[in-house]
Amino acid sequence: MGKKIFVMVDMEGISGVFCRAQVASAEGHPLYHAARKYLTWDVNACVEGCIRGGASKVVVRDAHGGGCHFIWEELDPRAEYLRGHSGKERMPGIGTFDGLILLGYHAMAGTPAAVLEHTMSSKAWQNFWLNGVAVGEVSIDAGLAGDQGTPTIMVSGDDKVCREARRFLKGVVPVQVKQALDLEGAILLSKEQAHRRITAGAKKAVETCAAIRPYTVKAPVKMRLELVSRGRVPAGRAHVRVIDGRTFEVSARTFTEAWRRLHG
Ligand SMILES: [Zn+2]
Repeated sequence: MGKKIFVMVDMEGISGVFCRAQVASAEGHPLYHAARKYLTWDVNACVEGCIRGGASKVVVRDAHGGGCHFIWEELDPRAEYLRGHSGKERMPGIGTFDGLILLGYHAMAGTPAAVLEHTMSSKAWQNFWLNGVAVGEVSIDAGLAGDQGTPTIMVSGDDKVCREARRFLKGVVPVQVKQALDLEGAILLSKEQAHRRITAGAKKAVETCAAIRPYTVKAPVKMRLELVSRGRVPAGRAHVRVIDGRTFEVSARTFTEAWRRLHG
């Protein structure tokens, strides 16, 4: 039986992306419209690798803000595509998949010289800690999948997110498509080179996914969030412990439950 692979796609770590205008759909900058193509091409390169590695089902989620960035008519016909909102679950049915790929991801908030670093929202989230350790979206999505027994098998993006992936996810296949120099600057590979790396990485990740362990976090799972703005801490809400005027904490037995409590 072929493997089932779920792919989460963000935009900041896509090959060819190095500045804010490329990922800000609301502004409709010409650079954004070009970057949508880059995103779609990275997805197709990844699907190609998954199929070559033995996947029989690939579900790809358009996971950058709003979920409306893929150029649908240009997507590889061998996969299925989740777009827009996904209801209560960030990755619906993730426990039924053999592996999770994080494509086009970025480093956690505060990482020096990382392309478009942030955690969840650069406007709202200043810092996020998991059991006392600062983490980013790589660990959040790996944790949600790990809770359901699904390993995170590949992460693509700049050198900083690859370093982060290696640090937290044993056995993961990091795919570096650019070398970050600044929040908005990087040394890019050519499109052909980047796609070759993504296809090769996805193939390897799918082939080896049975040997990669799910990312697990010791219970109780404690999540602490420092917000950018004052006056937004959900004081008085169930399970919330206020740390200071911008910071609060929740804890739970599982990653998923803590994540729900964080969002109320
Ligand atoms: Zn994003």
